[in-house]
Amino acid sequence: MHKKIVNSLICSAVLASLTLVAPLAHASKEHPVIGFCIDDLRVERWSRDRDYFVAAAEKLGATVSVQSANASAERQNAQIENLIARNVDVIVIVPFNSKTLGNVIAEAKKAGIKVVSYDRLILGSPVDGYISFDNEKVGEMEGQGVYDAQPKGNYFLLGGAPTDNNAKMLREGQLKILQPAIDKGDIKIVGQQWVPEWSASTALRIVEDALTANNNKIDAIVASNDGTAGGAIQALAAQHLAGKVPVSGQDADLAAVKRVIDGTQAMTVYKPLKLIAGEAAKMSVQLAQGQTPAFNAKYDNGVEQVNTILLQPTLLTKSNAADVVVKDGFYTQQQLSGQ
Ligand code: BGC
Repeated sequence: MHKKIVNSLICSAVLASLTLVAPLAHASKEHPVIGFCIDDLRVERWSRDRDYFVAAAEKLGATVSVQSANASAERQNAQIENLIARNVDVIVIVPFNSKTLGNVIAEAKKAGIKVVSYDRLILGSPVDGYISFDNEKVGEMEGQGVYDAQPKGNYFLLGGAPTDNNAKMLREGQLKILQPAIDKGDIKIVGQQWVPEWSASTALRIVEDALTANNNKIDAIVASNDGTAGGAIQALAAQHLAGKVPVSGQDADLAAVKRVIDGTQAMTVYKPLKLIAGEAAKMSVQLAQGQTPAFNAKYDNGVEQVNTILLQPTLLTKSNAADVVVKDGFYTQQQLSGQ
């Protein structure tokens, strides 16, 4: 009896280790195998990216293995190593940290695997393609949205994750709009902070502290995405300032679109995730098949000019938010009016 249990334990351990490194499928050009390594499925948008990507890739004859690193550079490295061992054709990465993937990408390249940088640019390593929405433009929309609502006064800049290259591009776009008013003295930056892991609860704490430090005299908050905007607005609400202090965001998260409609968030940015995921799936399959995707831009990542597909974002304010997202099938009217 005891021996039987031990045997079956050994058996399942062997099976588990086999599945860990077994090739995902017999890769062929018609049916490539793609690994999709997402930074953090805990953030609302990424599960939609995943679903759209898998559906589009499968339609093109590919198989996809999805991984989520949940904001851990080590976990993401291990997941990529595992995909290399399983001999996939393409690895599509939403990097947690834009700068710590050098070794695994070198390994992937050595194994002849194509690497695609998804939404966030991988720095310091050669990659076969990058796809994103124009992040600087998103930053400009955020800066403009808040500026239009509050062209003077004390501003707080709530940046994204310091490990994410997008956070810097967004800041560049925001400052492109705000710098002239800062130089004129119309706008005073009373504080700025990056939010590790884009965490909404950290954003809440940062804004609570900023309000205390400034005796609640903050007139505008430039938040870089909807999750952190949500944290900021919660801190404002506790001081009865929600709706009085404009806050920016991006992603068109459901709660954020509702806040824009209600007037507690000044704007958000709609980035059609079906489009980026569909184009990324197409890019991946084309790369696996030795074809050249329809690149339309180049981004310098420190080692090369990366071939890029750059997509255009849409500004959402109270006046167009519901229309745009319902028309595009991103939400139903019912979802928007649900509590
Ligand atoms: C993406 C945003 C997202 C943020 C947090 C950024 O790189 O561009 O859409 O909200 O990461 O996950």
